[in-house]
Amino acid sequence: MLCVFAHPDDESYGPGGTIATYSLAGVEVFLLMFTAGEAGSIGISKDLPRDELGRRRRLELAAACQALGVREHRILGAPDGGVAKVDRVWAIAEIVHDIRRYRPHVAMTFHRGGVSGHPDHIAVTTYLDEAIAAAGNDGPQVMYEWGIPRDKAPLYERPSLVPLEEQDIAAVIAIGDDAIDHKIAAIRAHATQVDFFHSLEQKFDYREMARHESFARAPSRVAAPAAPVSDLFYGIEAD
Ligand SMILES: [Zn+2]
Repeated sequence: MLCVFAHPDDESYGPGGTIATYSLAGVEVFLLMFTAGEAGSIGISKDLPRDELGRRRRLELAAACQALGVREHRILGAPDGGVAKVDRVWAIAEIVHDIRRYRPHVAMTFHRGGVSGHPDHIAVTTYLDEAIAAAGNDGPQVMYEWGIPRDKAPLYERPSLVPLEEQDIAAVIAIGDDAIDHKIAAIRAHATQVDFFHSLEQKFDYREMARHESFARAPSRVAAPAAPVSDLFYGIEAD
């Protein structure tokens, strides 16, 4: 599985439970991160110089990857907040590089509304679309897009949140206690961003919310099933 995201912590606050679930099951998970998150504004982030924040967030991501069981990760070093403005050809080529290197069956990112609506998130989804098309038969057979379902979205109390519509949900992964533990450990590894976690804990029962993770699906080589699946590898042919 190849996960492609914009900022260190997207992988943990997002589909961290799914990543942990599959890595616990023996799936090799790889992560490509566009930025070092040097423009973060959560908690102590806003008080740190960009260089220092980027340095810390690289270390935090390494620790989070360990908690989630991510086999290998790399950070492209695109400017935080400027992912949509990087050279498109370069961005796509970098993803294709990892696709050819790891030969993932499944690709994963945020859904095309960007979840928080962040333009960096939206840009990464479109780059991944184009990279998968460019990779052709070497590419992943299916691409999933993590999001927060509309019925859960109000709990976050964030007006900018772009929810996943019910009719777009193509997979719902049940997350066991072990994987939830790994997800929360990964979130805590992002020490500069952990205030967001604490704010969510004030709003709802985070562990209960973490029991399910929902995904939309991009048009993919594997035919779409009629109803949401409970396994991202549904319909995948081994090669
Ligand atoms: Zn992000």
